[in-house]
Amino acid sequence: MVTEIRPSRWLDRIRALAQAYRAVQGEATRETLQRFRALLLGAVPLHGALAWWFGQYQAPPGRPEMQRWADALSPLQMAMAVVLLLLGGLAHALLRRQHRARAGAVLLQAVFCLVYLAFGALAAILDVGVGNGIATFMLICAGIAVLSLMRPALSFTVFGLAFLVFWQMLQGAGVDARLLPSLQVQAISAVLMAQVVSVIIWHQYAGTVVLRRQLSRSNEALVAKQRELEFLAERDALTGLYNRRELMRLAEFELSQAARSPLTTCLVMVDLDFFKKINDQHGHPAGDEVLKQVAALLSAGVRASDVVARMGGEEFIVLLPNTSQDGAIAVAQKLRQTLRAQPLKVPVQGRTLLLPVTASFGVSSLGENQRASVDALYTAADQALYAAKQQGRDRVEYAAPQLSGDLPERTESRG
Ligand code: GH3
Ligand code: MG
Ligand code: MG
Repeated sequence: MVTEIRPSRWLDRIRALAQAYRAVQGEATRETLQRFRALLLGAVPLHGALAWWFGQYQAPPGRPEMQRWADALSPLQMAMAVVLLLLGGLAHALLRRQHRARAGAVLLQAVFCLVYLAFGALAAILDVGVGNGIATFMLICAGIAVLSLMRPALSFTVFGLAFLVFWQMLQGAGVDARLLPSLQVQAISAVLMAQVVSVIIWHQYAGTVVLRRQLSRSNEALVAKQRELEFLAERDALTGLYNRRELMRLAEFELSQAARSPLTTCLVMVDLDFFKKINDQHGHPAGDEVLKQVAALLSAGVRASDVVARMGGEEFIVLLPNTSQDGAIAVAQKLRQTLRAQPLKVPVQGRTLLLPVTASFGVSSLGENQRASVDALYTAADQALYAAKQQGRDRVEYAAPQLSGDLPERTESRG
């Protein structure tokens, strides 16, 4: 079987990986600067202490090169302590500025690594002068590889630069020719090893961050979906008003609240007149549009604390907490007049039709010291609505609910 080699696919993958890595670097740099800041708490005193130790070092008799070695390392350690303090202060300032200084933070991270590697290189060259190896440089390479989270492009640059500088220093330091090849091999190995470790750690870190971001995104999507489901569970899909179940729940709650206070709760049942004709003459979509517009008019015509619901079909309910019987009848009259005042503008097949709409209203109320169930209030409103229909539609009727022991009683009738 011949496998087709498509370099463009590989290039695309590498490009996608590089893009994903770039997107992670900001977070990785923050993490690295936090690590560096914490590291300085130990590193600055350590360099200070070493500066002091080398400063008071007395070479054994006959070893002047050891004295020169210590004399050079003391100011180098001190300078490192000072530079680290400076870089630490910068890192602290950048970390406090949160995400606004991303490019600056990455630059600082690179500078931090390069400064430490340069220090390692200088210290190692001094060590070589007294016959020690390049352990300092190797250790610092390892430390940077483990602590500094750098995407491969960045770590190649940092370790590559450090290697070139160190290589030049080794060449120019007048190292014993018998030692030089071994030190060069050690330097190459140290840098390569550091590079490999850095890439492995980075790959794992980036994978974790990407996974965490995916998780948080799907979590957000889940929460949004849940909110949507909660919304749909209590709303009518066509009009966005509360649905029957939610209206009943809210009404139960309202009556239980009102039972403990001298408040009147009213229920207004609204049913469009001859709505079937609209569907029959102009089609179901036109009927739907009418329902939406009526829903909007009803909502706009009451207070925010009132509850408007669609019970199904062309039947709506307005629950009016803390409203007197007369107040509720006045609200119903106002809504009735709003509806009949001007025809609704309904788009049908590219044209806008003017459809006059009227509705009949049934009102019931539960006053102070009266007790009745939501069902009783609902039944009374339904009976009032029935009466309104019977008496010619486009009317408001009132019926009192059946209280404990009473039968529902018609008390008023208004056109
Ligand atoms: P009345 O004045 O006696 O209330 O007459 P009506 O025509 O308004 O009442 P009827 O109960 O005879 O008809 C109600 C119509 O409402 C019938 C049904 O097709 C329609 N309907 C119910 N739900 C919807 C809906 O969601 N969208 C549309 N467009 N029509 C609906
Ligand atoms: Mg109707
Ligand atoms: Mg109806």
